[in-house]
Amino acid sequence: MAEAPVSANDLPAALASIVGARHVVTDPAALAPRLIDWRKRYHGAARCLVEPGTADEFARVVAACAAARVPMVPQGGHTGLVGGSTPLPDGASVILSTRRLNRIRELDARNNTMTVEAGCILADLQRAAADADRLFPLSLAAEGTCQIGGNLATNAGGLNVLRYGTAREQVLGLEAVLPDGRLWNGLRRLRKDNTGYDLKQLFIGAEGTLGVITAAVLRLHPRPRETAAAFAAVPDVDAALRLFARVQAATAESCVSFELLPRFGLDLALRHVADTRDPLAERHPWYVLVEVAGGTGDGGLRTALEDALGEAHETGAVLDAALAENAGQRAAFWHLREAIVEAQRHAGASIKHDIAVPVSAVPAFLERAIPAVEAMIPGVRPVPFGHLGDGNLHFNLTQPAEADPEAFLAEWERVNAAVHDIVADFDGSISAEHGIGRMKVGENARFKPAVEIEMMCAIKHSLDPHNLMNPGKVIEP
Ligand SMILES: Cc1cc2nc3c(=O)[nH]c(=O)nc-3n(C[C@H](O)[C@H](O)[C@H](O)COP(=O)(O)OP(=O)(O)OC[C@H]3O[C@@H](n4cnc5c(N)ncnc54)[C@H](O)[C@@H]3O)c2cc1C
Repeated sequence: MAEAPVSANDLPAALASIVGARHVVTDPAALAPRLIDWRKRYHGAARCLVEPGTADEFARVVAACAAARVPMVPQGGHTGLVGGSTPLPDGASVILSTRRLNRIRELDARNNTMTVEAGCILADLQRAAADADRLFPLSLAAEGTCQIGGNLATNAGGLNVLRYGTAREQVLGLEAVLPDGRLWNGLRRLRKDNTGYDLKQLFIGAEGTLGVITAAVLRLHPRPRETAAAFAAVPDVDAALRLFARVQAATAESCVSFELLPRFGLDLALRHVADTRDPLAERHPWYVLVEVAGGTGDGGLRTALEDALGEAHETGAVLDAALAENAGQRAAFWHLREAIVEAQRHAGASIKHDIAVPVSAVPAFLERAIPAVEAMIPGVRPVPFGHLGDGNLHFNLTQPAEADPEAFLAEWERVNAAVHDIVADFDGSISAEHGIGRMKVGENARFKPAVEIEMMCAIKHSLDPHNLMNPGKVIEP
């Protein structure tokens, strides 16, 4: 619907007439948490935050902002790690919140799909699928807060990518509001549809720069009847990959997670995070957390994992291992894995990377990257951990023990650049799952082929010629 243009100053009142005054937030105290990103690196300002309650309201709000030439910043759970949902400091933008778009419109168990609105909390969708005896596999530590719209906009990864793929692969159809306010209904529930460009993929991973996702049709999967998890010590990362191949061969498609943990990360977790316990008696240099899921519930999957670990032990690829005996032990393994993130905060400042290289290249990458950063900052303590089975590591660097945190963080960009250069040598990605946001716009442009940037700019310009949708993020058109 065409909105009568209003001036930027009159916009909050015009938006209130669409969504109701109580859904336009201008109070500075209420706005404040929406202006700072999760890691508190980016501070922004905004005219107001608006919370439409339906896709149609969303379309009218966007049309009104576009008519007033006011930039817009889509915001979901605001858990993104690269500053994508934080407005720029100029205060020109309106924040478009999806919080009230939180309905599951349909769950079709027979079709293995659910049609959900963008503001649904990820954990709520997992529960809805489970209630229908299905699995929605997207899972990440922020799942109690992040929203499916944000997950799709960042093409989130998380813990089950190995088996089920990233957020992108969970989507059959999409509904989105274009930067001029047109509402596109692409909510197809089909597994086969070869009728031209796959437009939904444009919005997935675009971080809100091409439009606002308002709803999606998500794929559901059969619920695994059996889950088994093991915490295994390995002598080095190469051995971890030998174990990975063995587990995959033994359990076919059932390996859902294969996570790497370094001893230093484990030490930090054990020291700083409550309710953590080393599952193994001895200290070892590296660990993997393996999870397999699927099967028929007859215990066969657990036996296959146990056999794979036993065989790997005989060849020296595994030094020791603990198999979870029950759900509590499995949760304890995962708690240890997640504790590494929190524990780093207690050990001082961290310089972070979210990189991917081909799985087979991970050992060689680490052999180059670790000495490189140690040479740049003597005493730095690397904590490379994460999704080894996807070739995606959080190559985080904890400051030297007695260093000044500010002086260490001042090295962030220099260290990032050096690590990313090594990543590029392995044909890797400088942002495996967190996106580009504000943080990596320059680095992204440094590594993408010129023709790729040109194609991205052409798409951006054709959908958003006035650069109103999440400006300053992903690309500078
Ligand atoms: C503790 C923690 C653990 C995490 N673990 C992982 C992990 O394992 N894997 C991983 O991939 N990520 C992880 N993340 C980061 C991840 O990107 C987010 O958690 C999540 O996917 C973003 O969802 P959100 O709703 O919070 O989006 P927001 O932070 O609100 O937004 C993220 C981006 O998407 C845009 N956006 C939001 N909603 C929409 C929409 N409806 N339409 C268009 N654009 C939109 C925003 O403008 C912004 O650019 C983690 C974050 C935290 C805090």
